[in-house]
Amino acid sequence: MVVHQPKEDLAILQSGIVTRLRQAGASVVGFADLKPLPEQATGGLTSAISVGIALNPEVVAGLAAGPTTRYHAEYERVNGALAQATALAADMLRERGFVATDGPATVRTADGGRDTTPLPHKTVATRAGLGWIGHCALLVTPACGPALRISSVLTNAPFAYAVPIERSRCGTCRRCVDACPAGAVTGRSWTAGMPRDEIYDAAACRKKASELAAAQGIDVTICGICIFACPWTQRYLRRSGVARPAISCNKTVGT
Ligand code: SF4
Ligand code: SF4
Repeated sequence: MVVHQPKEDLAILQSGIVTRLRQAGASVVGFADLKPLPEQATGGLTSAISVGIALNPEVVAGLAAGPTTRYHAEYERVNGALAQATALAADMLRERGFVATDGPATVRTADGGRDTTPLPHKTVATRAGLGWIGHCALLVTPACGPALRISSVLTNAPFAYAVPIERSRCGTCRRCVDACPAGAVTGRSWTAGMPRDEIYDAAACRKKASELAAAQGIDVTICGICIFACPWTQRYLRRSGVARPAISCNKTVGT
């Protein structure tokens, strides 16, 4: 169903959603035009809200050697906060007669469960102008690098959209390539539409991350080493007042 509302009403709704999401803990919010994407990925919905919540920098600072129980707890906390935030936004849209679907943040399970969706949250985030796909295949944001979790609300509300980001801004940086203990990161620069397999080896990543997590008694496949290694994360940690631990690479940071 297409709902026709005056532009001013939509602008007020859009701004109200941003305010509500910020109150619910969102660190970044963006609005994506999904119309250029295949209908099988979008379910015919034309717009999306991309929402990100930054990970606690003190927890991220402990990820140099891999996942910790604190990181696992923080990962679950942020996933829960994202689910609540996106549900609020979806409710606001439905109350005004729009279609809205909110889903969970993508989660990897120790039994090799899903880590992909027909429309990945990070694809929505790039279209919402929040960041780019880094060499490590994570969304990288100027605000906190890849040290965040993201989710999306799909809708038919015709918002004012952000300008999509369609190319990597990693530049010549290779810190995640060098840091990955699985050798999973190819170092190839992302452009919109590029298959994930050209950027990194998901199976090798999953195997290593599963081993690292299991060694800490964690039953979710998480790692965090490439999050920690990223210079954008290190900037986030410095801005947050978390001391910068020593890292061995001095490669150039992208723009
Ligand atoms: S999550 Fe760990 S194993 Fe996977 S790409 Fe990043 S550093 Fe490598
Ligand atoms: S570590 Fe460097 S190459 Fe990897 S995602 Fe961050 S900026 Fe990009």
